[in-house]
Amino acid sequence: MPAHPLAAPLLSGNRRALAQAITLAESSRPAHQREAQSLLSEVMPHTGNAVRVGLTGVPGVGKSTFIEALGLQLADAGHRVAVLAVDPSSARTGGSIMGDKTRMPALTVHPSAFIRPSPAGGALGGVARRTREAALLCEAAGYGVLLIETVGVGQSETQVAAMTDVFVLLTLPNAGDELQGIKRGIMELADVCVVNKADMDSAAARQARSELSAALHLLTPHSASWQPRVLSASALTGKGLGEVWQAVQEYVSDAERVQQKRHAQTGAWFEELLREVAWNTFLSGVNVDELKAVRERVLAGELTPVQGVAAILPSGFGE
Ligand code: GDP
Repeated sequence: MPAHPLAAPLLSGNRRALAQAITLAESSRPAHQREAQSLLSEVMPHTGNAVRVGLTGVPGVGKSTFIEALGLQLADAGHRVAVLAVDPSSARTGGSIMGDKTRMPALTVHPSAFIRPSPAGGALGGVARRTREAALLCEAAGYGVLLIETVGVGQSETQVAAMTDVFVLLTLPNAGDELQGIKRGIMELADVCVVNKADMDSAAARQARSELSAALHLLTPHSASWQPRVLSASALTGKGLGEVWQAVQEYVSDAERVQQKRHAQTGAWFEELLREVAWNTFLSGVNVDELKAVRERVLAGELTPVQGVAAILPSGFGE
C-alpha cells in the first residue's frame, strides 16, 4: 500500500498536515474513514511517546486558564504541547468548550503548541474515538505532551480517563460544598487532585486539600502502585503548576505502570468498538417485526428474557 501523502509531512511535525489528518479522521464519509485508518496504521509506530494528561472539573473551576498556563510553561521549557477536548455537547458553531480558540489566546499562537477543539457533537463514543485518533496523530507529529480536557458532561470524564496516562481533577477551595458536587465516580478516576484558585484564599485551599485527602483515603485506590496526590495551585498566578507537573512526571516515571494502563485501555477500546459494530451489524440484519413480537412475549411473561434472546439468536446461548 502506497504511503499516504499526509504521512511524511505529519511525521515531520507539520501542523497543517496534522490538522488535515485530524479532519480526515473526524469525517464520517466511508472513503475518508478508510483513508484515515490507513494513515493511522502507517504512523502508528511513531505514536505512544507523549505524556497523556486528562483534565476535568466543573465549569468555572479554571480548566482553560490552567491548561493555558501549564501549556505555556511546558512549551517555554521546550516541550511540544497539544491540547484536545472531549465535549459531546459541542457543535463547531456553538462556541462551547474549546470551540473558541480565544479561550487560550497565548497558547494558541505559541509555535510549540497545537490546539484542536472537540470534534463536533454526536454520540459520546464517537466524539471520544475521534479524540483518541487525534491524540495518536498529535503523537505522530511529535507532540510530547497531550492535555485532553473534558467538560464533564455525562460520561466524558470516564472516556478521557480511559485515553490518558494521568487524570487530573481540578476543584475549588470551597471543598466542603464542592465535594458534594463532585461525583464519587470522578474522584475515583483522579490520579492527581488540584485545588485551583488557591490565590483567592490560601486558608480555604489548605482546608480543601485536607478534606480532599481524607475523602480520597476512603475510596478504594484504582491503582495498587499509586496513591492519588492532592495539591493546590493558582492557574492565574502560575503558583503550584510546577508541583502538578512534577506529580504527573512522577506518575509516568514508572514505565511499567503506564504500559499496563495503556494496554488495558487499548484492550477495552477494542472491545467497545467490537461491541458497537457487532450490535450495529445485528440491527441492520434483524427482522424488526420479529424482534418486536419476541419483546412483547418477554414483556407478557410468555418467554423469559433468555428464551427471548434465544428465539432471535439461537446460537446466542451456548453452554
Ligand atoms: P473553565 O470553565 O473551567 O475552563 O474555567 P476558566 O478557565 O474559564 O476560568 C473561569 C474563571 O476563573 C475565569 O474568570 C478565570 O480568570 C478565573 N480563574 C481561573 N483560574 C484561576 C485562579 O487560579 N485564580 C483566580 N483568582 N481565578 C482563576
